[in-house]
Amino acid sequence: MIAPDTAHLILEAAESLRGHYQDCHLCPWDCGVDRTKGGVGPCRTRAYASLSAYAVHHGEEPPISGTRGTGNLFFFGCPMSCAYCQNFQISQVSPLDERTTPEAIAGAILDLAGRGVHNTGLVSVSHVLPDVLMGMYHAAMKGVRLPVVYNTNSFEQVHVLRHLKGIVDIYLADLRYSDDAEARQYSRTRNYVGSARRAILEMADQVGPSLQRDHDGIAVKGLLVRLLVLPNDIAGIESSLHFLRQELGTGVTISIMAQYQPMYKAVDMPLISRRIYAGEYLRALNLAESMGFEDVYVQTMDAADNYVPDFRDGEVRFSGNPDYLSNSMTKGAEKGSDTRR
Ligand code: SF4
Repeated sequence: MIAPDTAHLILEAAESLRGHYQDCHLCPWDCGVDRTKGGVGPCRTRAYASLSAYAVHHGEEPPISGTRGTGNLFFFGCPMSCAYCQNFQISQVSPLDERTTPEAIAGAILDLAGRGVHNTGLVSVSHVLPDVLMGMYHAAMKGVRLPVVYNTNSFEQVHVLRHLKGIVDIYLADLRYSDDAEARQYSRTRNYVGSARRAILEMADQVGPSLQRDHDGIAVKGLLVRLLVLPNDIAGIESSLHFLRQELGTGVTISIMAQYQPMYKAVDMPLISRRIYAGEYLRALNLAESMGFEDVYVQTMDAADNYVPDFRDGEVRFSGNPDYLSNSMTKGAEKGSDTRR
């Protein structure tokens, strides 16, 4: 929570993590580079955060976006390099030599708070966490009171996540692959599966394995694991579901996503150069149902049409928002427009 009474905790975490800029182990690449002296790892980022955009976003799962939206902050760079990244305009370019000061990050949070958002959404921030935390600290000192949603690809270090205990309220965590070779080929990363699974267990340990919602259905605390279905079973959804069931039980909140759309380098990669078929999505839903998962968000098959962020000109625009049917396994994707199997 960003709040005056958590400011000291946020400051402590920022100061503890700042040393990583000199010897960086903020993500599982474990580069050990000195970013203050020009060292740059796969995240392409120097020793500061560069805010690329911030916006009120209505397209996250219903308990996250609610009715007033989530206040998302986006930063340049990312430790992963997904061939199909929707945010490639910001994630896969080196930030300009332009630091966004913590005070300016706080200004963005304040602006979003003033627009009535339900929470602050930190989108893929592991590589710039010390600056982001300082921004949150300044916002807290100015009286902001907002839950924190940590939106992550889960390529995270457990020792870093431990600093976020008591600060992050809701973890919105991808589990992209269940095979390191696929993760390497399509997201240019390494040891993804073990890193992501360990990270998710740490998150569940901090906030519990499922989302807690208030009387309006808005998330107040917990974990939501996102499973993006990729063409040709590249994501290995079945193995990820087995892992989640075995480690966290069937009450874990999951979101099975149909919104994959080949973008950026994916258009030239044969196995991921198309959208998913309805049959592929239904298979993932059926697996979740047969394994007994109880709290599952389901998208319509036209989700890929409805969500394409555009980060040009220093702003982010969303062409629409994905449509979620419900968090009930009893509905499913029959509304989908593509019936091929
Ligand atoms: S955050 Fe960047 S520099 Fe640090 S370990 Fe990860 S890739 Fe390397």
